[in-house]
Amino acid sequence: MHRPARPTKTNQRNDIPAPTFRPARGKGNRPRFPRRRNSLGIVATVLLSLATAGRALAEETSRPEGPNVVIILADDMGYGDAGCYGCTDIPTPNIDSLAATGVRCTDGYVTHPFCSPTRAGLLTGRYQQRFGHETNIPFDPQNPHVGLPRSETTIARRLQRAGYATGAVGKWHLGAAHWFHPNRRGFDFFYGFLGGGHDYFLVDMRKPMHEGYFHPLDHNGQPETIEGYLTDILSQQAARFIDENRNRPFFLYLAYNAPHTPLEAPQELLDRFAHIADRKRRAYAAMMTAMDAGIGLVLDRLRAHHLRQNTLVFFLSDNGGPTPHNGSSNRPLRGIKGQMWEGGIRVPFIVSWPAVLPQGVEYRKPVHSLDVSRTALAVAGVAVPNGEKLHGVNLIPYLAGKTADPPHEALFWRTGGGVAWAVRSGPYKLVQPDQQTPPALYDLEADIGETHDLADEMPERAKALRALYDRWNRENLPPRFLGFRPYHQKKAEFYESLLPAPQ
Ligand code: CA
Repeated sequence: MHRPARPTKTNQRNDIPAPTFRPARGKGNRPRFPRRRNSLGIVATVLLSLATAGRALAEETSRPEGPNVVIILADDMGYGDAGCYGCTDIPTPNIDSLAATGVRCTDGYVTHPFCSPTRAGLLTGRYQQRFGHETNIPFDPQNPHVGLPRSETTIARRLQRAGYATGAVGKWHLGAAHWFHPNRRGFDFFYGFLGGGHDYFLVDMRKPMHEGYFHPLDHNGQPETIEGYLTDILSQQAARFIDENRNRPFFLYLAYNAPHTPLEAPQELLDRFAHIADRKRRAYAAMMTAMDAGIGLVLDRLRAHHLRQNTLVFFLSDNGGPTPHNGSSNRPLRGIKGQMWEGGIRVPFIVSWPAVLPQGVEYRKPVHSLDVSRTALAVAGVAVPNGEKLHGVNLIPYLAGKTADPPHEALFWRTGGGVAWAVRSGPYKLVQPDQQTPPALYDLEADIGETHDLADEMPERAKALRALYDRWNRENLPPRFLGFRPYHQKKAEFYESLLPAPQ
């Protein structure tokens, strides 16, 4: 829903004020969680300190030489909403500059049509259905069971072990209980919020919990309020992380909640798009502009430290645009966020590493977000032990033109335990959009809008794709969480059941 905008002190998007930060309580940026101390604990601490010192020495002597890695994730941005993807009414000069200095993937996908499962896949490098992470998890800081399963290792943890400084800024949405905190999942630094979204201006604990939208921000486990516009604040925190870690390899995961609802933006940005009649689209344009300026700030910092050439930057959205909600556009694709049509899963997807990759080129073979994870580990020289199966590929040889082979035999999607699913191999996609509709077959190279079902004309092709899907699906687990709506409903019913019966 559109809400009245509140002005901020920021007047020029290309002139985001220098970061001003409240001093963190405690020592430095280290995560601060309550710890019990007793004599056994002190002995353990001493032993741990010795072990840590040894590891630090080992890391010092094997400091990685790999590039910095930056993943910038938009939230609910449509496929057609950047200039380099054909957008004409919202300028995105900084996203476009990434395409101009890198490879723009036309057929880039995420592994889920909505937020939390996509992030679970992206940050582990594994199909999230393999560990049951197939629904949007609820915001419930009291529940230690709803979050990225602790059996899974994040790419942040792997890079951290390899000596990278690791930072996450923005939306987490992989569990709000302390077990799941980013500081416990491989990130040295976290600034953001743990739920599925946040108000852009307000922290107000008097408001209903609503997935944590009004909860305090989280700075390495400490609460903070919002002073300004959240998108700008996240950009500034990302810039600060780069400044502080410029002398060592770093991994930055910058997960904006823009342009996800609520549709809120500073008034001066809304005014800039006064010519857009649709109110949602106007607010969306303003939110996109703030995010694009933030991306510009990050790129400026990299250039200022002479790091841009050897920093691998990915830009993508976590799912397609939910057009009726935020005014996004997935043109020319069919469908929206939450659906297995292309509009739910195909996203803007750019890879820029000026020192290594060609610049200003298109890549048309299908790739997906698990490749982002695998590529980040590969360029950092991180080996993944046997048995910890990752599902993406290192994209660099493909994007650098070293091989003309497709990166994947097939890509797969499944949601709701299989109520909807899809498989793509080459140009062909077999998609079951819901339980009531039989699978349909499309040739996406000839029919990007999924308008002409070929299932009856090409039954053998449909059968072969179905066989690929069934083979992949055999290794999946059932969804381990209720979606957030059923979760909160059941929880409310449970507490109501504890109330005394009316007299
Ligand atoms: Ca999303």
